[in-house]
Formats: sequence, structure tokens, C-alpha cells
Amino acid sequence: MSFPATTSCATTADRALLPVVGADTLVPLVDGRQVPYANLDYAASAPALEAVAARVVEVLPLYASVHRGAGYLSQLSTALYESARATVARFAGARDDDVAVITRNTTDALNLLAGCVPDGGRVLVLDIEHHANLLPWVRSVRGSGRTATVVPAAPTVAGTLTALRDELARQPYALVTLTGASNVTGEALPITSVVALAQEAGARVAVDGAQLLPHRAFSLADSGVDYVAFSGHKTYAPFGAGALVGRRDWLDAGTPYLAGGGAVRDVRTDRALWQPAPARHEGGSPNVLGAVALAQACDTLAALPTGALAAHEDALRTRLLDGLADIPGVRVLRLWSDSADPVGVVSFTVGEHDSGLVAAYLSAEHGIGVRDGRFCAHPLLARVGVPGGAIRASVGVGTTTEAVDRLVAGLRAYVTDGP
Ligand code: PLP
Repeated sequence: MSFPATTSCATTADRALLPVVGADTLVPLVDGRQVPYANLDYAASAPALEAVAARVVEVLPLYASVHRGAGYLSQLSTALYESARATVARFAGARDDDVAVITRNTTDALNLLAGCVPDGGRVLVLDIEHHANLLPWVRSVRGSGRTATVVPAAPTVAGTLTALRDELARQPYALVTLTGASNVTGEALPITSVVALAQEAGARVAVDGAQLLPHRAFSLADSGVDYVAFSGHKTYAPFGAGALVGRRDWLDAGTPYLAGGGAVRDVRTDRALWQPAPARHEGGSPNVLGAVALAQACDTLAALPTGALAAHEDALRTRLLDGLADIPGVRVLRLWSDSADPVGVVSFTVGEHDSGLVAAYLSAEHGIGVRDGRFCAHPLLARVGVPGGAIRASVGVGTTTEAVDRLVAGLRAYVTDGP
């Protein structure tokens, strides 16, 4: 199976594109041998970049209470945090008047945004989303009058765009929210086409960028997208920091995400005057180190030559798909027959074999890390006909052809010789 690719930068991906920490980690096999870990689980959490690790070591001794102290280290900490915010906004291609809220991750960011959709607003979402971009919208927010409509994706991109257009014509929407790249198949709708449909209908657009921003250049300003959410731990930074970047007005007026110190301007026992965004949604002491680490990851990715990231992943994905095509019984999952330029995420089943057992075999016998299960996308798995789950291999800047070849060889051994 091949997808049309939009990149032209040729690479063999024999070497990592950027150095990541832990690339030499040895893992034990059942026979007692130790082998280098073949990490093919970047879509779950990517290893930190070496540049990020170095920055964390540099900043750890410096930071102190942020936004709250007059001492030198508190001032430095505040400056580091606000500079990280500016870097994250730049990485997302923010417009001048956009706001970047530092969150814990994508789930946090999308739940935050759900509380900022104007009261009574209707949200349009497809049934192929990660639960983080589905559940915050369908969960009713008592008293707000906000509602969500879940539209089934069609078997083609063109058909899915038509389904969105039809629904947008049926009733008014405040927001259309969609994935920037599926965490199951790596595919996506063309974002600019969705933006055009939404704008015509007077709706805003939010993109779940968890699998997009670590893998492709993205710009709010250029795409016309109103909001984007992403996670540090998928963007080569540690766990615990992510971001929501986008239009200020909804974020200034929305329900403060966490009630507490830092989010308020003035408090009496019977009322609180809330800050505008971003402070409004950052109650409590913020994750300075996480934000600084995320900003370093953003800067390092942004400094790569144009197209290098996509070309590296494309070479690995193509090699993996070619290898899988030769293994009897392997079925690669795909949402749309006419999609283009997926990111480096490939999910598949192996005949009738239990995905969990195959993944456990790959780990125990070959030192390969893949993900198995339903990938927090149960409706999507049902849509592609594997409600019981699949196996997912995903790549990134630290992946080389060696890891991909080991996976293909491991699967071939499983199919040929049995577990
Ligand atoms: N959206 C997509 C497409 C994802 O792949 C994930 C995580 O796998 C999320 C959202 C949620 O990310 P997090 O767990 O960092 O909040």
C-alpha cells in the first residue's frame, strides 16, 4: 500500500535525524540476551531530544517560584516561563493576538477549550477522533447549553468533507474540531479544506495537534485554524507540559480551567475577579521546567531544514509498509482510500492473532516496543473493522531503518515459526 507523499527531500533514514536520550538502552529478552531497544512507540510518548535533556540540566538549578516573588531567581523563573510561552506560540504559528496557555498535555488543552466555547455553542466532531478530542465535547456541561454532534467519517476524504459540509449547512456551529493526524493511521483531512467549510458556515476550527506538531510544520496563521492543542511528551520533551494556542476572545471569557491562585485578580469571600487568559487557565504554580523543556523541543524541531522531518518519517513509513506487505495475513488499517501525506504512524493486524500477544512476543523475543490495543480511539477501531484492537508502530526523529527492519523480521518470524 502506498500513500501519495507531498515531500521531496530524499533520505534513507539510516541514521537518526536528531539525537534522543536513551537511544542505546539495552533491554532483556526471554532467552537472557540483552539487545538495544527498538522503540517504535513514538506516537504514545517520544524520547526526549538530547538538546532538551541538556536544557533541563541547565535550568533545574535556576528556577524558583514563578509570577510570585521579587527575588532574583523568581524573576528569572518568570522570565524563563514567559519566554517558553512565546516560543511555544511561535512554534504553533500563532497570530499576534493569539494566546498560548501552558497545559499538562493535549487532553488538558482540549478540556480547557471545551469550557471556553460560548454558552449554547454547538460543536462538530468526527467519529474518528482520539478520545481526548471526542469526550470533552460530547460530555454535557451542565447549564452551558453546549452540545456536540458526532458525524461518521465516510470511506473517502472527499466523502467526509461532504458529510461535514452537509452538517454545517443543517444547523449553526460554533466550532469544528478535528485531528491533525490520526493516532491510529497517521492520516488526516486536508485542514485548509475544513477551515474553508467552517469559515463559510461561520464556525471556528480547533485542531488536535498531538500527532501533527511533532511531525510536520504547522501554522495557525497560515492555515486559518483558530485553536491547536499539543503535548510535550509526544514532542520530544518530558511529560507534564503541553499547550493550547489560539484566539484570545473565547479564552479570555471562558470558564477558568482551574480555580485557584494565579488565575484571579481579586478575591472576596463571595466573589472572584478572574484574570484574562492565559493566567485565567493556569491556576496554581505552573510547570516552569516542563514549559522550558517543551520550548527547547519546539526550537530544535523548528531549526530542522524544511521538509527534513517529513522526509525522514516518510522513508521509514514506506519501508515499513513495504516490509508488512510481504508478510502473510498482515492488514494495514486505513481510514480513507484517497488520503495523502500521513505521518509516521502505522497500525495493523496479523491474521486472527491477538494483538496483545503479538506485541508481547515482539518485546520478549526481539526487544521491540510497539503499542497494542484500541489506542484511545474505540469508535475509530470499530469503523475500520477491528473493534478488538490492533498493533501500532510509530516513528520519529530518533528512529532508523534498523528498528523498522527488526520489526518486519520479528513479525515474519512470528508468522512463520509461531510465538
Ligand atoms: N490526541 C491524539 C491524536 C493523541 O494521539 C493523543 C495521545 O495519544 C492525545 C490526543 C492525548 O494526548 P495526551 O495523553 O498527551 O493528553
